[in-house]
Amino acid sequence: MERRAIRVRGIVQGVGFRPFVYGLAQRLDLRGFVRNQAGTVLIEVEGESASLEDFLGELVRTPPPMAQIDGVGWEPRSLQGDRRFRIEASRADAAAEVFISPDVAACADCLAELFDPADRRCGYPFVNCTNCGPRLTIITGAPYDRPRTTMAGFPLCRACRAEYDDPADRRFHAQPIACPDCGPRLGLRDADGRTAAGDPLPAFVAAILNGRIGALKGLGGYHLVCDARDAAAVAELRRRKRRDERPFALMVRDETAAAELCEVGAAERELLLSSRGPIVLLRRRPAGPVAAAVAPGDPRLGVMLPYTPLHHLLMRAANVPLVMTSGNRSDEPIAYDDADALERLRGIADLFLTHERPIHVRCDDSVTQIVDGAELPVRRSRGYAPQPVKLPAECPRPILAVGGQLKATFALGRSRQAFVSHHLGDLDRFEAYRAFERDVELYERLFGMRPERIAHDLHPDYASTRYAIERAAREGIELVPVQHHHAHMASCMAENGLTDPVIGVTFDGTGYGTDGAVWGGEFLVGDGGGFRRGAQLRYVGLPGGDRAIREPWRMAFSHLLDAGCECPSLTGRRDPAELRTVETMLRRRLNSPETSSMGRLFDAVASLAGLRDAVSYEGQAAVELERLATAATPDGAYPFDLTEPADPAAPLVVDVRPLIRAVVEDVAAGTRAAQIARRFHAAVVGLTVAVCGRLRDATGLEDVVLSGGVFLNALLTSETAAALRAAGFRVHRHTKVPPNDGGLSLGQGMIAATAGT
Ligand code: ZN
Ligand code: ZN
Ligand code: FE
Repeated sequence: MERRAIRVRGIVQGVGFRPFVYGLAQRLDLRGFVRNQAGTVLIEVEGESASLEDFLGELVRTPPPMAQIDGVGWEPRSLQGDRRFRIEASRADAAAEVFISPDVAACADCLAELFDPADRRCGYPFVNCTNCGPRLTIITGAPYDRPRTTMAGFPLCRACRAEYDDPADRRFHAQPIACPDCGPRLGLRDADGRTAAGDPLPAFVAAILNGRIGALKGLGGYHLVCDARDAAAVAELRRRKRRDERPFALMVRDETAAAELCEVGAAERELLLSSRGPIVLLRRRPAGPVAAAVAPGDPRLGVMLPYTPLHHLLMRAANVPLVMTSGNRSDEPIAYDDADALERLRGIADLFLTHERPIHVRCDDSVTQIVDGAELPVRRSRGYAPQPVKLPAECPRPILAVGGQLKATFALGRSRQAFVSHHLGDLDRFEAYRAFERDVELYERLFGMRPERIAHDLHPDYASTRYAIERAAREGIELVPVQHHHAHMASCMAENGLTDPVIGVTFDGTGYGTDGAVWGGEFLVGDGGGFRRGAQLRYVGLPGGDRAIREPWRMAFSHLLDAGCECPSLTGRRDPAELRTVETMLRRRLNSPETSSMGRLFDAVASLAGLRDAVSYEGQAAVELERLATAATPDGAYPFDLTEPADPAAPLVVDVRPLIRAVVEDVAAGTRAAQIARRFHAAVVGLTVAVCGRLRDATGLEDVVLSGGVFLNALLTSETAAALRAAGFRVHRHTKVPPNDGGLSLGQGMIAATAGT
């Protein structure tokens, strides 16, 4: 017989860890107690030595799904002679460090109950337990317990209360539990928002299968739903929603249904089935049943599996792939409040399937993909946030990093953890900005933090920058301004555990430079403490600012003027007066800031290649260029020059004029757009390796991080990483936060943690 005191560190609170420990101790006939203490779990157990060994082994091998054990230590204690094992109440001080879990997809146990005719929760759309269910989206305050969730208005019935109080039950202290007797119910409303007759779920499914468009209240907001096979319904949804040409996501019944539509590799299958339940971008099989208008011209489909019990019931009943896209009009934030949804989705939805559990935190679906066997996140939100990202260095003081403007997230930093928020959308939308302010405040309460430093982007017009400056002045908080691409670089360093200086290849659309120019094709050298601009794309004019983003032909024209060459096929498509205006703007530098943007270079080449002269969303031309290049056979690369600056402290300049001239020659020779796209990708890989080589010669650095929205391009990411490795570099890329501006807050946080230390 012996007794041990075991301390478990990591994400072990609010994830069903104590009931798990209780069950394990019961099974191994051990006595003692478990309790939460100062952010850790303390266990004291006594019994047979062999059983204690088994206990420790199973503790780390089979923890509850949401737990994440960072360390286990133990020391011997003298025998106490306990007669049983008990769960002790948390110490008061435990609240401050309680972990707030992301929302978790329905677990296998709950699904078994959902479809078990003998179970009291059979068919009940809100079944959940300690291992699954809503979390972040229903939390209204801290510490996390039922009165501070949107389940506060649903008192537990006797049967649910007994489960909640029973340490041996899977629902012990599971805050959102409910049953048909005490929990929320479904409701059906017509197009005008009036309560409609009929059994909500079957009526909703019948309407969808009849070609109607439905609004479905989900976990973090409303979805718009229609039959993905029904071309007319999909086209009508696109029209009513005023959606640009971006693809719609799909929900399918199960992994078999996903594999019928798309190629699903092992890593992709794991993601689909994971408790995070993201939308996974998958290569579609030819001639599937899904209507072309779901993802026009796209070889991929964004697919997710049901992640709430309601989704499971819906997909079983419908049994066809459903379009499941965010419930909003064009670029607005997704609707989550019932009254707001009925108002904003009126005219889009023919009927509404709602329910009585309020959503407190709006949370979009996460979007991800597998590149080279690892995740390359596109949008990190539901199911992921606010799971902390481990920082490579200690954050000495609490930090708030407010992120950027588009695809906004914010982050809180404390000790070795960064809590990166869910996706907030584009802060130029008032709704999104209001949610940003409110959710910053909520996170600070949930994690019991008051920031002593606020990090923000250099761009003076970002709403997040203005928030940071105003709040810092009001509350006397220190400000840490961070250059956009430095933040990109640092975000990639942070998630890869890097603190020593690196070469930061940061390619994106737009970021405010320290010289006031629009940066975006940058090779930085530095670490969290600072950077030097090692190289940049040669500056060209961005004629008309934002218009140049919507009209890639303007960038093409700007590059043509810079390269001193003509492309009759491009200029022939444009009105001569329009061309003269833009030429004047560029020559006189009127509303044409200088830019080194790699995203805009992709736009320019896409336009020159004849792919498109205008886009309906930023990055569309680049996405199409990637698609074409992916399908083409490699055959050479366009040339470029590297220009040493006269001033040795100035950055090396990547001169892409030879590249532009070569593209123009290819266009004149009638080369296929796919081949142009392929040679262009190879050129970007080539120039990246060449510049990194020069910077390695100058600095001795061999670690390269790849960041910025351009690295959502799977082909470019994969080939650049491979080419750099072949040239002897250690290459690091994103697998936890997106390379785009959704990852900025993490990088700002890492820089603010390092600042002044
Ligand atoms: Zn469950
Ligand atoms: Zn109940
Ligand atoms: Fe960016």
